[in-house]
Amino acid sequence: MQPWIEIDKDSDFSIYNLPFGVFSLINKNKKIGIAVGDMVLDLHAVSSLGVFDKLNIDSEVFVSTYLNDFISLGKQITVKVREIIQKELCDNSSILNSNESVFFKQIDVTMHMPVKVGDYTDFYSSIEHATNIGTMFRDPKNALLPNWKHLPVGYHGRASSIVLSGQDIHRPKGQVLLNTNTDPQFQASSRVDFELEMGFIIGKKSSLGDSVSTKDAEKFIFGKILFNDWSARDMQKWEYVPLGPFLAKSFASSISPWVITLEALEPFKVSGPLQDPKVLPYLEFDGAKNYDINLEVSIQPEKQKETTVSNSNFKYMYWNMCQQLAHHTSNGCNVNVGDMMASGTISGKDENSYGSMLELSWAGSKPVSLNGGGSRKFIEDNDTVTMRGYCKKGSIRVGFGEVKTKLLKTL
Ligand code: CA
Repeated sequence: MQPWIEIDKDSDFSIYNLPFGVFSLINKNKKIGIAVGDMVLDLHAVSSLGVFDKLNIDSEVFVSTYLNDFISLGKQITVKVREIIQKELCDNSSILNSNESVFFKQIDVTMHMPVKVGDYTDFYSSIEHATNIGTMFRDPKNALLPNWKHLPVGYHGRASSIVLSGQDIHRPKGQVLLNTNTDPQFQASSRVDFELEMGFIIGKKSSLGDSVSTKDAEKFIFGKILFNDWSARDMQKWEYVPLGPFLAKSFASSISPWVITLEALEPFKVSGPLQDPKVLPYLEFDGAKNYDINLEVSIQPEKQKETTVSNSNFKYMYWNMCQQLAHHTSNGCNVNVGDMMASGTISGKDENSYGSMLELSWAGSKPVSLNGGGSRKFIEDNDTVTMRGYCKKGSIRVGFGEVKTKLLKTL
């Protein structure tokens, strides 16, 4: 594809990507846009030029606080909108080529939460991560619990505390047990950690009582984002038995602003790890369902250089999104447009591909060195954690941008 608009060859937002997001200009309404190189294409302005006339959609759907209503139009519309833009951007005679007012520089706009998240579920689907955690906290010989290879383990999280990249968060306070011989204390967590994850956004609702099959699952998934599942390890350790994660997770999760569609990710599909033992029939699937997405995490202390502390890949996931959604709805639980499902921490086999400080520093026993001096076992006050992700195949690059969050001291 040869776009007439200038796009840097290393841009995450190539002509093959065209992700959706919600942006605004100062004192203006929030609108839906598409990222193109370092620009945002204003879809409301594009629609007003008649570019989407044959789709018969109301232009006002693009003036919205969230993508939910647009996504609810269904893939028969949203896929076409993206395809039409792709075609227009490669057609020299396009009306967009003579209307500069439909583009804004990304540095001149404010990005907002892309969707109103109704419900949020977090899975635990990386075998390397689950094995590392089981090895550290239970028994290296039986690191995985008996259910782990039979179902994608997950828990229901909080939608209210999911925040956008760029929003600072505060170190949480909570109960921690400093010493098994004493009583718990209520204090600021001293083990704040990131979890490198990716989230997917539900694009089609299911009805209560219905189940989504692995075969149909992709029809229910609109797209993906980067997801940092902030975690307080000391609080988690004390609270998680017997019902799992609670306040150690719900203080904040951060996401990237641009939603990359499944259609844009299609060229990067790969097979996942072999699943042994064989899964139950409702979790079986055909074809490649994983994606080759390079992921990295960096830590930047105040007034210091950034250090990349992890290089991972989404393709390591043991359970894929189709299986996660099939399992989630297998009991008849319904999903709604805008629901968010996170993958669970994405760790690879190599020590530098672990997706959390808990693993990278091996529970604090191996501090991670930083460029410019110092080291980290966990995240300290005023550190900025940034996650980035991109797919690349030949000259085709589709990236996720970044999710960047600064941890401030406790309130
Ligand atoms: Ca998690």
